Amino acid sequence: TTGSASLGVAGAAEHPAVTAQGAALSVRHLVKQYDNASAPVLNDISFDVPAGQVFVILGPSGSGKSTLLRTIAGLEPIQGGEITMGGELLRQAQSAGKLRSASASDSTKVGMVFQSYDLFPNKTVLGNIMLAPVLVQKRDKASVQAEALRLLERVGLADRKDAWPHELSGGQRQRVAICRALIEHPQVMLFDEVTAALDPEMVREVLDVILELANSGQTMLIVTHEMAFARAVADHVVLLANGSIVEESDHPQEFFDHPHTERAQQFLATFT
Ligand code: ADP
Ligand code: MG
Repeated sequence: TTGSASLGVAGAAEHPAVTAQGAALSVRHLVKQYDNASAPVLNDISFDVPAGQVFVILGPSGSGKSTLLRTIAGLEPIQGGEITMGGELLRQAQSAGKLRSASASDSTKVGMVFQSYDLFPNKTVLGNIMLAPVLVQKRDKASVQAEALRLLERVGLADRKDAWPHELSGGQRQRVAICRALIEHPQVMLFDEVTAALDPEMVREVLDVILELANSGQTMLIVTHEMAFARAVADHVVLLANGSIVEESDHPQEFFDHPHTERAQQFLATFT
């Protein structure tokens, strides 16, 4: 993927230009403040993710990475700014602080995989993957099953289709969680430290699935502490600290080898 991913703090008036260039996801002046908190967790965040781009978000614990992904996924209301997808308004601040989802077909636009394995314990692998497309999207059961099997094949788990979540390793559960998100055909996939809770020997099998997905052209935002993986997969990298983007680059190799800001130098030094 190519092009300048970020327009910095471009104004809302620039939307048409942005979408004409094919931004899959556009975040404008995003402000997020939790109830009872004295300060915002995300403070005027703006960026664009062009279609097909792998957008990696780095940052220390507590910097707001999960909150950012959760606002994009519609799991948290926002207090300022807006998020558009394919030029369509997806989320917007509401004065009452209530969650607003602008589009009815919302759930199919964003897929998210979390750090913790959140499979339904009382459903088999196949049952987990088929649940949303059959019940929510009302798709044909036979074709959903065929697609679920293809996805399981792709992540190397075709032989575990009838297993229960408790029978799977952590790495297998995360791969099922990825299939469960993919089957809804999200325009953008969000990954929040999906290997952080895994035993080291299972990290690779999950990262390989995400790499393959990246190479297939899936637009995605990835939060990770796996620096070698981040370097290998990123088209664009941002460093978040205290709810602001402190450095970003369309040249990840340069970012990792020669970070410009002291904050980024400090952050990267903790991984060497
Ligand atoms: P990261 O994922 O980068 O570690 P988070 O987005 O989880 O950061 O958290 C950012 C900040 O928001 C932290 O200070 C955290 O304590 C706070 N926070 C996260 N979730 C909530 C919540 N539900 N209510 C109040 N504060 C929260
Ligand atoms: Mg987090």
